[in-house]
Amino acid sequence: MPNYDLHSHTYHSDGTLSPSDLVKRACCNGVDVLAVTDHDITTGIREAQGAAQAAGILLVPGVEISVTWGAQTVHIVGLGIDPDEVSLQAGLAEQLKFRSWRAEEIGRLLERKGIGGAYSGACSRARGALISRTHFAQFLAAEGYVRDKRDAFAKYLVRGKPGHVPGQWATLPEALGWIRASGGHAVIAHPARYKLSATRLQRLLTEFKESGGEAIEVVSGSHSRDDCLRFATLSVRYDLLASSGSDYHGPEAPWVDLGKLPPLPESCRALWASWKIADFPPGGA
Ligand code: AMP
Ligand code: MN
Ligand code: MN
Ligand code: MN
Repeated sequence: MPNYDLHSHTYHSDGTLSPSDLVKRACCNGVDVLAVTDHDITTGIREAQGAAQAAGILLVPGVEISVTWGAQTVHIVGLGIDPDEVSLQAGLAEQLKFRSWRAEEIGRLLERKGIGGAYSGACSRARGALISRTHFAQFLAAEGYVRDKRDAFAKYLVRGKPGHVPGQWATLPEALGWIRASGGHAVIAHPARYKLSATRLQRLLTEFKESGGEAIEVVSGSHSRDDCLRFATLSVRYDLLASSGSDYHGPEAPWVDLGKLPPLPESCRALWASWKIADFPPGGA
C-alpha cells in the first residue's frame, strides 16, 4: 500500500520548511504521495513539484482554504488543483487581502494591551510570505509574553482573547467553487478540531456535500484514535470519501511527522482509490 500524506505546510504559509526540504523529509519518511496544502496560497507548489520529481515521489498540488461558516472558521483542503486557474487565484487574492488587514489589526489590538512591535515581529517571521496567527504566536513566545505558541493562542489569539479578530473568510460554497473550478477535490480538514455539536456537524456535512465536497479528513495528525473512528463512521453515513494527512508544519511543532499516520479504518472508502498514477496530478472530478 502506498503511503499517502495529503496535508502539509511549507514556509510559504505557516510551516517552517522550504518546499524542497519538506519533500525531502517526506521521501525519507517513506511517503509515496505528498500533498502540499499551504493556507490560502499556492506559491510553494512549483518548487515542491520539482523536488518531488527529483526525489521520485508524487506531488499532489493542494491548498487549505480558510472558510467562515456559522461564525466560526473551518478549513477546506483542495487536492489536485490547478494552481494557475483564474477563479481560484482571484479568490485566494481576496483571502490574502483579509489576512494582511487582519495582521495589522492584531498588531493594533496587542499594542493596546501594551505589547509593542507585534505586527513587525510577525512580518519578519513570515519573511515576506503570508502572515498567519502562527507568526504572532512565535513573536509572543520569543519575546517572553507567553510560555510557548500554544499558550500564545490560548491567551491572545483565539475568540474572546485580546488579539482575536473574527474571520471574514470565504463562504463554504465560494471555497468549494474555487476548488472545483480548478479541477480539485474538496476535503474537510481535521473535522474534530471544530468541536461542533451533533446538529451543527450534520449541517456542515450536508452543506459541504451539497456544494460538491467529496471527502473528510478521517485520519489527521490532530485526531485521536477515537476521532478517526468517529469520522470514519460519519464518512460512510454521509457517503463521503476519506482522506489522510499529517498537517505537518515543521520539525519543531509537536505534531505527527510526515508519513507517520495510522491507516484509514477499513470501513472507509479512500479518496485516492480512483486516482491513477498515469493521471497525476489527480485533477478533474
Ligand atoms: P490563521 O490561518 O492565520 O488564522 O492561523 C491558523 C493556524 O494557527 C493553524 O493552521 C495552526 O497552524 C495554528 N494554530 C491554531 N490554533 C493553534 C493552537 N491552539 N496552538 C498552536 N497552533 C495553532
Ligand atoms: Mn497552520
Ligand atoms: Mn487547518
Ligand atoms: Mn493545515
